[in-house]
Amino acid sequence: MIPQEVEDSGVLYFTRHYRLRPGQEEPPRGKTPATGDLDYLKFGVFPGDNGCFSITLCLPDVEEELRRAIVKPEVFDAICRALPGVEPWIDPERTEPMSRVFGMGDLLSRWTDFTPGGRAAVLGFFAVGDSLARTNPLYGRGCSFAAVGATALREALDATPDPAERLVRYQARATAELKPYYLVMRDADRTAMRRARRALTPGARLNLRQRITKSFLDDGVAIAIRSDPDLMRAFLRGFHMLEHPQAWLKRPGNLAKILGYWARGRKANAEAYRPTGGPERREMLERLGLSPDADVERLKAA
Ligand SMILES: Cc1cc2nc3c(=O)[nH]c(=O)nc-3n(C[C@H](O)[C@H](O)[C@H](O)COP(=O)(O)OP(=O)(O)OC[C@H]3O[C@@H](n4cnc5c(N)ncnc54)[C@H](O)[C@@H]3O)c2cc1C
Repeated sequence: MIPQEVEDSGVLYFTRHYRLRPGQEEPPRGKTPATGDLDYLKFGVFPGDNGCFSITLCLPDVEEELRRAIVKPEVFDAICRALPGVEPWIDPERTEPMSRVFGMGDLLSRWTDFTPGGRAAVLGFFAVGDSLARTNPLYGRGCSFAAVGATALREALDATPDPAERLVRYQARATAELKPYYLVMRDADRTAMRRARRALTPGARLNLRQRITKSFLDDGVAIAIRSDPDLMRAFLRGFHMLEHPQAWLKRPGNLAKILGYWARGRKANAEAYRPTGGPERREMLERLGLSPDADVERLKAA
């Protein structure tokens, strides 16, 4: 028996490809972000070469009305036009669409343990990359996971000819180096799912602990990173897998700085907040001619 931890990451991706018209340039970058997270919708622009780029919109799976409509190119573009940082990218004078809207789902987080209880469950078989661990592509770490796993496997193969010992060594190193990231990503997906459900639950309120955590992350950590280049570097070391993802937060100097920014309050930190990336859910759905209440009612009845 080979134990696997599997759970849905709770989102679906929709992507459309575009190309700049001859002589046109990418829009100038402003303060309004071309990537963002509105809880009911995540979005991002991905420039490529030869004037090509794609736009990806990511929906929580509870947003069924939006999910059904977004595959229509005119709805996809209407959503993009409602996002101030994305809208200039699809200005018809600048850009033409090159594809239909592609959907991607079945996004599972999956961790496999080939050495349950510290004993090899299979001999002569080493799973690397997505066959060892899968995560939501949102975080862009799948290739890094594969590279770290391959390095761990090479070391295990060099260390001993014994197939059981090789697997135990390989799994132990892969677990030590990759599992902390896997867990952080899985937990971030869980938080995003809770936020998406809350957006569909009228009157839902965070309890005190949740409010404090949210404020610490939004008004403390995020603001401190944007305000202090040293903190940004420290954060990016974990983000880019050069050390444990939360190691930087545990260093007293970094934590003190974050608490300092948090304590200053929103007014003093006003410059560090990103402008809102787009409309609230109700406004967006009404603009698209969709019912903002249909999914709310469906969840209530479920
Ligand atoms: C849309 C999307 C966006 C992503 N974005 C990022 C990103 O920005 N950054 C990042 O790091 N990761 C990203 N990932 C994840 C990343 O692509 C994967 O984690 C990574 O490719 C896994 O590598 P792998 O070698 O395990 O598998 P794969 O890259 O899938 O390679 C497996 C290969 O095996 C081949 N194959 C399958 N069956 C057989 C067979 N029976 N015989 C022979 N060959 C076979 C397949 O054709 C394939 O070439 C993204 C994934 C997706 C789907």
